[in-house]
Amino acid sequence: MQNRVDQILDGNLYASIELAVDYLRNDLLIGLPTETVYGLAALASHPKAIVKIFQVKARPTNHPLILHIADYQQLEKWAKNIPLYAENMCKHFWPGPLTVILMRSKNVCDEITGGRETVAIRIPNHKVALSLLNSLNDGLVAPSANRFGKVSPTCAKHVVDDLGDEVSLVLDGGACEIGVESTIIDCTSNRPQILRSGGISISEIEEIGKIEIAYSDGDSRAPGMLEKHYAPNCRVELVDSLQQAMHRLNEISAQGLAVEIMDFQDDLKLYAHQLYARLRQADERSIHTVLAVMPGRGGLGDAIRDRLTKAAASNQPI
Ligand code: AMP
Ligand code: MG
Repeated sequence: MQNRVDQILDGNLYASIELAVDYLRNDLLIGLPTETVYGLAALASHPKAIVKIFQVKARPTNHPLILHIADYQQLEKWAKNIPLYAENMCKHFWPGPLTVILMRSKNVCDEITGGRETVAIRIPNHKVALSLLNSLNDGLVAPSANRFGKVSPTCAKHVVDDLGDEVSLVLDGGACEIGVESTIIDCTSNRPQILRSGGISISEIEEIGKIEIAYSDGDSRAPGMLEKHYAPNCRVELVDSLQQAMHRLNEISAQGLAVEIMDFQDDLKLYAHQLYARLRQADERSIHTVLAVMPGRGGLGDAIRDRLTKAAASNQPI
């Protein structure tokens, strides 16, 4: 696909931010860099544009969106009944890859939450995202800027590759530093519950919130947590060690199939940072199978294991 030359703009330029603000106010969707992945953004108070996000992504409407805000002071505009432990977590980890689920205020429209009385909120830790948010008197909803169920984008080109002209412009903020989505904690009851592992580890959050976090019991409070997600076209096969990967590489290549190994030797930051780009490159090169060496549990390892497991969920054995 030929990218329009004016579609990807340098997000560090004031003129690009001004244009993005103008587009958003006219209900157009824009690509937004964050430290996790690139988002497909619309103004939180523009339901018509929010509906477009679901259409463009082909995302079911019962997968509610994360609301991004510019600073902690804005939290009370969008949420109510905020527990003290949630305040502590947000004050410590924001801006950053922590999303909290709170009771919504009347300012949050049904289109964002799929009619739920709760809302997911975070402050992204990215210069361009913050500069855009600070130019608005509004929040931004921004799910990952890819078609539903597919690999998330971690650079501006990925967004255009996936969405073409359906995104009016993409603010280029470079490659996403973290590379996997935010950690989501449900803070609507006395005991916080983790809904998705992500850029911040549970133990860090427990320490700061001074409270133990419960594991999700898989009930409907975690809408959009599917078994299969983040899936490239190629097969992703999970292996536990480089040795096992080498063994499978020999077996699969003996069948004349293109196969490669993804392993970052437990450099978890690099693994997360590269994960989605590597899966995309494998598709571009028509790789049949990526042998992904699973990192250890804990910290970013949990998030990487979650994304890989979901990417591999529909594998057929060979
Ligand atoms: P993403 O798909 O990365 O945009 O993350 C959005 C995810 O956050 C959704 O799929 C839900 O799992 C979760 N989420 C968003 N809003 C809510 C909410 N109000 N209650 C529970 N989970 C939510
Ligand atoms: Mg997504």
